[in-house]
Parts: sequence; C-alpha cells; structure tokens
Amino acid sequence: MFFGTTLLLVSTLGWFGWRVLRQDRALATQRVQERIESSADRIATALELELERVDATLAALISMTPEDLSGAAAEFAESFGDETVVVTFGADGVDVHPQGRITFYPDDRSAMASPSTAFIRGESLEFRTRDYASAAKSYQRLTLSADSVIRAGAMVRLARVLRKANRLDSALSVYRGLSELESVAAGGLPSELVGRFGELSVLAELDSTDVLREGAEAFVDLLGTGRWRITRASYLFYSEQAAAWIPNAEGGGSTAERLESVPFALAEAVESLWDSWSAESDAPARNGRELFWSNGRPVSMQLHGAPGTLAALVGGPGYLREMLSRNVSQILKQQRLELAFSDTDGRMVLSQFVDPPTLRAVRTSGRTGLPWNLEVAVADMEQDLTQLAERRRLLMAGLFMVVLLSAFGTYAVARAVNREAEVARLQTDFVAAVSHEFRTPLTTMRQLIELLASGRVDDQRRQEYYAVVGRETNRLQRLVEGLLDFGRFEAGAHEFSMQSLSPDELAQDVVDQFRRELAGNDHTVSLEPSDEPALVAGDREALGRALWNLLDNAVKYSPEGGDVSVATIRVDGKVAFRVSDTGIGIPAVEREKIFDKFVRGPEGSRHNVKGTGLGLAMVQEIARAHGGAIEVTSEEGRGSTFTLSLPVEKQS
Ligand code: ADP
Repeated sequence: MFFGTTLLLVSTLGWFGWRVLRQDRALATQRVQERIESSADRIATALELELERVDATLAALISMTPEDLSGAAAEFAESFGDETVVVTFGADGVDVHPQGRITFYPDDRSAMASPSTAFIRGESLEFRTRDYASAAKSYQRLTLSADSVIRAGAMVRLARVLRKANRLDSALSVYRGLSELESVAAGGLPSELVGRFGELSVLAELDSTDVLREGAEAFVDLLGTGRWRITRASYLFYSEQAAAWIPNAEGGGSTAERLESVPFALAEAVESLWDSWSAESDAPARNGRELFWSNGRPVSMQLHGAPGTLAALVGGPGYLREMLSRNVSQILKQQRLELAFSDTDGRMVLSQFVDPPTLRAVRTSGRTGLPWNLEVAVADMEQDLTQLAERRRLLMAGLFMVVLLSAFGTYAVARAVNREAEVARLQTDFVAAVSHEFRTPLTTMRQLIELLASGRVDDQRRQEYYAVVGRETNRLQRLVEGLLDFGRFEAGAHEFSMQSLSPDELAQDVVDQFRRELAGNDHTVSLEPSDEPALVAGDREALGRALWNLLDNAVKYSPEGGDVSVATIRVDGKVAFRVSDTGIGIPAVEREKIFDKFVRGPEGSRHNVKGTGLGLAMVQEIARAHGGAIEVTSEEGRGSTFTLSLPVEKQS
C-alpha cells in the first residue's frame, strides 16, 4: 500500500508536470504568434509609407520640365540599386531613366529618322548597273557630309558595297569607323550597333574565329545591357545572330540566360505597361501598384499617371531587396523574423524562408494595399522557445528531485519500519529468553529448598544442595546485574572506574572463578599467560564481565568435553584476550550481526542453548569504552576465536 501510494503520488506529479509543460508551450507559442502578428502590421505599415513616398516622388517627377526630370528620375531610380528604372510615357514615346538598364524599348524612335534622298545616285550605281567601284566612290564622298545622319547612312552603304566588291578589309575598317561614330541612327538603328554587327559579319566571312568569338561575346553583352535603343524584335534578331558566332556559349551567351536577365525582365514590363497605356491613352490617369512576371522573374511596378503622361518605377528583385533593407530589415533583425512576398496566386515573389515556417502571419494585398501578399515568420523558432526549454529543464529537474526524494523517503521509511519490526521480534525473543533464563535456576532452587525444608536430607547432601543453591543464586545475580549494566552502558550512564591492571592476573582470576562455576561440567578451560607482560588501564569489573561472557559463550556453544583456551597475547602493540573454543562455529553471514543487541544465532535455539542476545553486545560496549575492539574468526563446525584487544598502558 505504501509503495502504491508513493507510485500514485509520483505519477500525479508527473501528470501535473506534463500539463504545466504543455500549457507553457501553448503560451509561449501564442506569444510568438502575437509578436509576428504585430510585426507583420508594422512591416506592412512601413512598406505602405515607402510606397506612398515613391508615389509622391513620381508625382513630383511628372510635373518637372524634361531637362530636370531626366536627372532627378535617374537619381531616384539609382537610389534603389541597379535593378530599378523610372520610366515616363508621353506623346513622344518612352523615356527610361537611367538609360541602359533595359534590354529593349517598346517604341522605336530611331526608326523615325527620315530617309535621305542623298543616296539615290549611289544606290542606282550599286543596284542597277552593279558598278560597285563607282557606287563606292559616290558613297565615300557622302561619308564626309556635315549631316551625321547622312554620314552614317553613307558608311553603312559604303561598307555594303565594299563587301559586294569583295574588299573585305576595307569594309571592316568602314564598319569600325561606323561603330565609333557618336550615337546616330543608321538605317533605323544605332550606328554603333550596325557598325559592330557589320564588323562581326565581315569577320565571319574572313573566318577569323577567335577574334569573332570575342567580338560576338562583347556584342551580346552590350545588347543585354540595353546600351542601344532597339525594339524587342531587333534585340532578339541581333542577339540570336551574334550568339550563333559563339559556339558552346555559356552564361550571357545562352538564349535562356538572356531571356531571364533582369534588364530583359524590366524591358518586358515596360513594354507591357506601354502597350496598355498607349492603347488607352484617353483613359483617366492610371495609378497603382502592379506585379509583372517575366520568365519567372517578378517585376514590381508603381505607377503615377496624369493626363497624357505616366511615370512608373519599375524594379526587379533587387528593388524589392532594397525596399526591405531600407524599411523593414531593422524590424526583422530585432524580432528575429523572416519575410516572404507572394502574388495573389500564391507565387513566391521573394522569400527569406529557409524552411517552411510553422508559425506565420499573413497580410494579403487586399488588406494592406501592397502589391504583394506579405508573410512573416519566426526565423528560428527554437531560439524563441529557448526560455521555454529552460523552464522545461528546471521543471523536469524539480520533478526528478521530487520523484527521487519520494523514492528515497519511501525506501527510508520502509527500512525503518522493517527495522522496527525486526527489533520488536528480537525484543519478544529477548523477553522469552530472559524468562527462560530466570525460570531454570528458580525451579532448581525451589526444588532444592523444598527438599531442604522437608528435613529429610542428610548432611552431605545438604551441603551439596546449599552449594548448588549458592551457584544458582550467583547466576541469577549475574544475570540481573548484566541486564542492569547493559541498560546503563547503552544509556552511557555507566561510570567506569579505570585503574592500572595486569591482563594476566585478570584472566587468571576470571578463569579461576569460571572453573569453579563450571563444576560438574565436562569442559576444560586452559589459560596461557602472555610471555610479554603489560599493563592496561581498565575497569576491572567490566573487563572481567566481558571475559566471562566470552568464556560463557565458548562453553555454551561447544559440545560436552570441549576445550576452551584463554590466552593473553600481544598484537600490533596491543594486549588482547583470546578465547578459543572447539564448538559449533559461526556462519560467515552472522559474524557481523552477533555483536548487535538481542541478536541470537539460530544455532543457539536449535541446540537449545540459553541466552539473551546481550552478551556480545555488552562485550563490544566495554571494549569501546576502553578504546579497544572485539573481533571474531570462526570456522563452522570447528570452533570460534574471539579476540578482545585493549591499548597497552605502559610496559611493565
Ligand atoms: P547469547 O546470549 O545468545 O549467547 P551473545 O550476544 O553472547 O548472546 O551471542 C550472540 C550469538 O553469537 C549467539 O546466539 C551465538 O549464535 C553466537 N555466538 C557467540 N559466541 C559464540 C561461540 N563461541 N561459538 C558459536 N557461536 C557463538
């Protein structure tokens, strides 16, 4: 029952602990959730403010004069890094600030360049009469024209006719000259583009592979950076053509790579914006935020329109990153959060999530007015729960301690109860043993006294009977005194009267007295004095009683006719009484216990030996009081030897 109760207690505690932990975890999780919810609101507000600022800037830009606008818009776009442009739409087409950040343009303003009538003569020589030399001369003259458009047109034609006349080296140098002209439209395209491309075509004809490859690579790169104002069709045409001159192209040379570049994505976004804007240019001013996808790349657009014009901030992934680092990275860092943007279809626009988050706060674009859905999550959930883990450890440790203490308590109580039961048993045995001890001599005495009182006993018998009654009286007295003394020893109330005494003399006295007491018994008791006499300080009576008890046991636990030998010896600088018998011996398991009070070996009751279980306990008390010790060696069935050692007082 006792163990059952303890088990119940421990399991109840365990259950409570578990409940507390669960609740604690739920609470901690809730706190984290609250934190990310409030952070999500803060982030949404910060982004909204930023977008409003952008809107205000766009509004300011479209009201500027074209000269001011260009610089201000470029500066504004550059403030978001190099993946952002500001585009302005107007009656004369598209303007992109800063230039060279988009691969192609939706309108083709250079195509507007008016065709010149200056080349009629040269072209008729070239195409009608096929007189390439004269045609070349005609064009050559025009390359010196003051009009740069005519100059560029003349160079294009000159190079063409030189190629036809198979004067490839001259054609090459003309193209080179063309590519070095200031940006001029040549046949609807930038002269530099035409020049460089022509150069590459001639090189291809000349079969100069290495130079061609290098030139083609540089050309594709230039095309990709939006250096020239060309349309999507021209871009695709020229980049494909040039790419064909780069065998096993990697990186910028491959088509997929080109179409997934940020400048290409921006260009596509601008194109789509222009298409829809120019289609409905009568429509009311268009404002807002939009998200455009180009080959898997998200492009964010923010528009601010006014009648007949529109300004837009168009930014690739870099723009988003810049927005974040500018407005929310502080919050994210402080609160140890991660963030992701997705579009309304759930496509990821930008994600900082390393693993799919367990706790998140979502702000949809419908609710926030931002162009993306916003998701905020805890960067390191475990770190957030470290406090929890700490509390858990503490609680576990506490619980463990309680369980341990309960277990220990249970064990200790059980042990104490056991011991009590054992003591109670021993005491019962003791009472029975003592009663027995008393009854035997009393019975003998009563019978003898009855006989004596009857007066029918002759003189000789009478003397014998008196002697027996005397011995039995002595025995009873020793028994009673022994019990009283033991009580006093235990209570520490016995006063030892220490004196200097000779162990040999003491042993002699006790043995003599013991022999007298043994009269009629078959045991022999021999005494062997020490060959190295010494003195000890001791209580004569107490030591005598101890020695007597040992002798008494030696006789009690040996069969009739056994030999008991007493010796005073010197061991390790001490004096010792050694009492050996040839009796029944003591089993090893009992050798420790027999010195405890009330403990009687089973052999005693089996052989019906009288005793109280106090004898050896008393010997031990006396030995201790003298600074000595009692030890036993024994062999079952062969006999036992008890050694009572005492410190030497001084050499005699
Ligand atoms: P008891 O009154 O039973 O003799 P003791 O304290 O003197 O009590 O001895 C305790 C027990 O030690 C005995 O019951 C006995 O089993 C064992 N014992 C003591 N002395 C001897 C001995 N000389 N030979 C064998 N057993 C002994």
